[in-house]
Amino acid sequence: MAETTAIEWADATANFWIGCTKLSLACDNCYAESDWDHRKHRVTWGPHGDRDMAKAGPIVCRKVQRGAAAFIAKHGRQPRIFVNSLSDFGDNHKSIRPEWREAVWHAARTCPDVILMILTKRPQNIPAYLPADWGSGYPNVWIGVTAENQTEADRRRAHLEAIPAAEKFVSYEPALGPVDWAGWEFLSWLISGGESGCKARPSHPDWFRAARDFCAAHGIAYLHKQWGEWLPEGQFDSTGFQWAPGEDGRVHWWKPEPPYGAHLDDAHCSVRVGKKIAGRMLDAFEHNATPWVPYV
Ligand code: SF4
Repeated sequence: MAETTAIEWADATANFWIGCTKLSLACDNCYAESDWDHRKHRVTWGPHGDRDMAKAGPIVCRKVQRGAAAFIAKHGRQPRIFVNSLSDFGDNHKSIRPEWREAVWHAARTCPDVILMILTKRPQNIPAYLPADWGSGYPNVWIGVTAENQTEADRRRAHLEAIPAAEKFVSYEPALGPVDWAGWEFLSWLISGGESGCKARPSHPDWFRAARDFCAAHGIAYLHKQWGEWLPEGQFDSTGFQWAPGEDGRVHWWKPEPPYGAHLDDAHCSVRVGKKIAGRMLDAFEHNATPWVPYV
């Protein structure tokens, strides 16, 4: 519900309700559940917990719309809002009231200079929730799915492809396995990232390279958001050790052994250095592409 966010692919988050049920491996370490259920005890996650309406969603959208002209003048693009970062718009739980979804569509209609990004793990449910005047899609609403591995990519791809939308994107985060991206050529944007948090699982650099190369071959914007908790060997040097600047400004070294090292395959290991130090360079480049979308 923030007017700004540290998420690299969005400028703000707007939640219209909070709460969800874990669905697939990407949900294992759900940060929204950790924060709102386990820490704050404000919402009960799972099928037996009711979702909680959030008033802040429409307020954030209106506020970002009011500042959109200045934002566009400064950045040359429309501001992007991640809708329901603490829930899933495609969730079909009975406690979600139709007016909460209508509030999202109302925000889209009344905030035309703002892009609303709906990211779901349940794309099969989205068509039932589209508004009557959706047509080929509202021009300022982008729809995306999470695809953390091949199984979920296969399960969700066709559903996303079938939804009419101005732009479509995929979040390959947390990347938990390799994905063959053939068939995803309809995308405008692929966002990738490793997992963060104390229970984070390492990602193989080849998984990201495959995503990057697929995007380059098909004119799809590619953004590598973060390595997350684990930094693969070879991203900084080829000595078998990892280095990164510490807070004291000196170079620190890690030996890739458990519990700080994880074996990825015979040629790769990954080192637990923390999200901040791991950064987001993939093979010495930052990948920051976003879809170019004209605005009028
Ligand atoms: S879909 Fe998103 S909000 Fe829902 S449990 Fe999974 S990670 Fe959490």
